Amino acid sequence: MTAPHPTSTVLVINSGSSSIKYQLVDPAGGEAVASGIVERIGEELGAVKHVAHGTTTKREVPVPDHAVGLRIVLGLFDEIGPDLAGSHVVAVGHRVVQGGALFDGPVLIDPQVEKQIEDLSPLAPLHNPANLTGIRVAQALLPDVPHVAVFDTAFFRTLPDAAATYAIDADVAAEHQVRRYGAHGTSHQFVSRRVAEVLDRPLADLNQIVLHLGNGASASAVRGGEAVETSMGLTPLEGLVMGTRSGDIDPAVVFHLHRNAGMSIDAIDDLLNRRSGIKGICGENDFRTLHDLVAAGDEKAALALDVYLHRLRKYIGAYHAVLGRLDVLTFTAGVGENDDIVRLRVCQGLEPMGIVVDPVRNEGRIGVPTVISPDGAPVTVLVVPTNEELAIARQAVDVIGA
Ligand code: ADP
Repeated sequence: MTAPHPTSTVLVINSGSSSIKYQLVDPAGGEAVASGIVERIGEELGAVKHVAHGTTTKREVPVPDHAVGLRIVLGLFDEIGPDLAGSHVVAVGHRVVQGGALFDGPVLIDPQVEKQIEDLSPLAPLHNPANLTGIRVAQALLPDVPHVAVFDTAFFRTLPDAAATYAIDADVAAEHQVRRYGAHGTSHQFVSRRVAEVLDRPLADLNQIVLHLGNGASASAVRGGEAVETSMGLTPLEGLVMGTRSGDIDPAVVFHLHRNAGMSIDAIDDLLNRRSGIKGICGENDFRTLHDLVAAGDEKAALALDVYLHRLRKYIGAYHAVLGRLDVLTFTAGVGENDDIVRLRVCQGLEPMGIVVDPVRNEGRIGVPTVISPDGAPVTVLVVPTNEELAIARQAVDVIGA
């Protein structure tokens, strides 16, 4: 059976420094009508993948810049489909990583918004300029539809000052906008709202912890639909142990490595963001490989997993304390949705806090919202797949009032 033709679609664009991910989304039905990625922009040979009508088209062509990349994407829509002109594209939704203290929700992009995204670049030097490039290129190529920016930080603008403030010199913090902004907000918001729908309970009544465990990983505490804590800070480096990021670390490690190991600030930045986390400890950052190594008796892999789980458990305990009462604990993203070992092991020992996982309900990869705690458990433990593209598409539709 073919799906009914959507009455409107949103083109969602996630423009990175050397890649453009895109998805044509039916915001009402929630389906991805088409999706794809352009990678290795600026390298000798770029890679393009377009998925539509159940088929995947791959091309290796030079993609010198984002404008060429997006033109190739639009060409693929023309050549392979679906035809954009016939897809009722009502908006283009752009993921923007850093909205700083300026944006607490999605906005229609105009020259002032572009300037503000640019001004926030010092807080996200790898991301905001790339996001802005994507916006400008897309606006030039699709001038007749409204473009909406959806910020990764917006959901965390409700963080109380006690949670958002770093205990450093207040003047320095203010002058350089040093505070905790969080990240992955679109996912935490989407998942915490889905939880209320799935449980058929008012969002306002629920105290939730959401664990977004992908390659990047973050936790949030959500009270009545509002975020009150999150693990990422000024940048996505703070918090949980991640695939390649250290998460929390004594800041003095940076001074030590700089002064005594002679490492430059850029080298330490690279170390903590790309050569740390699970990968830093055992050399691998994919959890499937990690479990194989652990099963084969690899001690470094076992340590990496222990460090990862220990940090997660600390955050669950901390956020339980922040919330006072915990109703729901939800796992999402690549590891959270697929890794039953992590879900089971992280909750082991938390039974006195009311957190229990039923091993049978928990088994395997979970692709639809599923309760994995036993009936009647004090805390409902869930797996809820995230869908950031759909969340961006729906927010874009809300902004334009379509
Ligand atoms: P990103 O942060 O890149 O968006 P994802 O949310 O897609 O990441 O998660 C990617 C990670 O999910 C992979 O690095 C891998 O560790 C993990 N993962 C994916 N599939 C599985 C699986 N079947 N079992 C365990 N882990 C998985």
